[in-house]
Amino acid sequence: MIDSIMKRLGVSHDLYRNGNYTVRTPIDGSVIGQVSLEGAEAVDERIAKAQQAFEAWRKVPAPRRGELVRLFAQQLRDHKEDLGQLVTWECGKILQEGLGEVQEMIDICDLAVGQSRQLFGLTIASERPGHHMRESWHPLGPIGLITAFNFPVAPWAWNAALALVCGNSLLWKPSEKTPLCALACQALLERAMEEFGDDAPKDLSQVILGDRDAGERLVDDPRIPLISATGSTRMGREVAPRVAARFGRSILELGGNNAMILAPSADLDMAVRAILFSAVGTAGQRCTTLRRLIVHESIRDEVVDRLKKAYANISIGDPREGYLVGPLIDSQAYEQMQSALERARQQGAKIVGGERQLAESYPDGYYVSPAIVEVEQQDELVRHETFAPILYVMGYRDFDDALAMNNDVPQGLSSCVFTTDVREAETFVSAVGSDCGIANVNIGPSGAEIGGAFGGEKETGGGRESGSDVWKSYMRRQTNTVNYSRELPLAQGIKFD
Ligand code: NAD
Repeated sequence: MIDSIMKRLGVSHDLYRNGNYTVRTPIDGSVIGQVSLEGAEAVDERIAKAQQAFEAWRKVPAPRRGELVRLFAQQLRDHKEDLGQLVTWECGKILQEGLGEVQEMIDICDLAVGQSRQLFGLTIASERPGHHMRESWHPLGPIGLITAFNFPVAPWAWNAALALVCGNSLLWKPSEKTPLCALACQALLERAMEEFGDDAPKDLSQVILGDRDAGERLVDDPRIPLISATGSTRMGREVAPRVAARFGRSILELGGNNAMILAPSADLDMAVRAILFSAVGTAGQRCTTLRRLIVHESIRDEVVDRLKKAYANISIGDPREGYLVGPLIDSQAYEQMQSALERARQQGAKIVGGERQLAESYPDGYYVSPAIVEVEQQDELVRHETFAPILYVMGYRDFDDALAMNNDVPQGLSSCVFTTDVREAETFVSAVGSDCGIANVNIGPSGAEIGGAFGGEKETGGGRESGSDVWKSYMRRQTNTVNYSRELPLAQGIKFD
C-alpha cells in the first residue's frame, strides 16, 4: 500500500526503502520505510547549494515565482487523496484530517499566488525638495524550516509557499517521526519545478532528513537568515537564543494550552460539538487542541454530563477505517499521558477515560480513550501542555475570573468563548481580554483558516505564519531615498558647509 502511494506521489523507492533509519506507522507499529539520516557534512553542502539557488531565484520576477506555486498547488490537487493517506499512515491522524491538511496546503498556495503580485512597498513623503522616499521589499535568503510530527505537511507549506513567492530557497528539516511526508511534498514540488522550466534552480527546495542535530546545524548557520521552527516550547527555548546569538531571525510556533470559557448564555449544543472536535480530534495532538474548559458553575454539571455521554460514543481505531480517533504517535506520548493522569488522580481529580484501548489487536499501537479530568483549580499540572487528549474542566462564577484563568498559563496560542452575551464576547477579544494569538467567539480553538495570521504569544513563541501580512517575514525591508534635484539638502535642516 505505502509503495503504491509513494509511487503515485513520485518518491523514488531508493529514498525510503534503503536507509539506516526505520520509520514506523503509529497505527500498528509496523515498518513503513527506511530512510537515510544526513550528517554534518551533507547538511553543510545543502546549505551551500541553497545559497546558490537563492542567488538565481531572487532574480526571477515575483509573479513568475507565483506561477511555480500555482503549478505546485495543481500537483497537490491532483494528489490530495494520496498525500492525505500518507499523512494518515505516517502520523496516525484520521483520513478526514489528513485530507484537511492537504487542503490547507492548497489554500496557502492559492493565497501565495495572489500575493506574488502584491509584494507592496510604500512611497513616503520626503521633507527635502526634489527627493522621494520609498520602502521596498527584497528576497531574504535560504530559509530554514523545522517542523513537528503532528502536522507533517501543512506548516511546511504555510512557510514554503510564501517564502518561494518572496524569492527565497528552502531547506526543510522535518520531524524524524514523519520523513516520508517530507519526501512526498518535495517530490510533488520537484514535479512542479520540472513543468515550470529552467527558471527554477535545481536546489531551490531541499529536504534534510535528520534528528535534532541536523536542526541545530541549520539553527547555527549564519548563511540562513531566517529559521521558522514549529514544535515544543522546549525546542523553541533551545533554538531562539542560538538564532539570536548570530542575529538571525526566527519564527517560533511552539506549544499551546488552549482554553474555552463556556458561559451560561451559550448555545450548549454548539459548544458540546465544538468541545468534542477540538479536545478529541487528532487524538489531542494538535497545537490548538482544547485542553482547558472553564465552565460557569451554574451549567457545569449539565455540561460534564453531556460530555461524558458524547465521549462514551467516540469510536477509536485504525484511522484509515473511518474511526473518529486514531492512535497517539508513540509509547512515549502514551506514558506522558498516563503520568499526567496519575498526578491528577493523586491530587484528587475526578477522571473519566484515559485508558489504553485495542492493546490486544495493536500491541505496538497506542490507542487511548480521551480523558475528562475535573479539577478544583488551575495548578502546575493544568498549566503544562501534555500532548494527548486530556481535557481539564474547571468551574467559574465571575466572567473576569474566567478571563484571568484563560490567561494564567505560560502558553498563549489559542482561546475561545462560547456566549451569546455581546459584552462578554467583545470583552474577550478586546485589549483586556484573551492574551492569545487566536481568540474566537462561538467556535472552538482549533481548525484555523489560512487567511489569518497563525501563531501565539508568551511560550508559544510569538511567531506568525500563514495569511494576513505574514509574507513580510520572508523578505527584507529597505528604505530608499532618491534625490532627483541638483542640490544636496540635509535632513533635519542641518547645515554642513
Ligand atoms: P519537538 O519539539 O519534539 O520537535 C519538533 C522539531 O524540532 C523536530 O523536527 C525536531 O527534530 C526538532 N528539534 C528538536 N530539538 C531541536 C533543537 N534543539 N534544535 C533544532 N531542532 C530541534 O516537537 P514534536 O513532538 O514533533 O511536536 C509537538 C509539539 O509541537 C507540541 O508542543 C505542539 O504544541 C507543538 N506544535 C506547535 C504548533 C504551532 O503552530 N504553534 C504546530 C504544531 C505543533
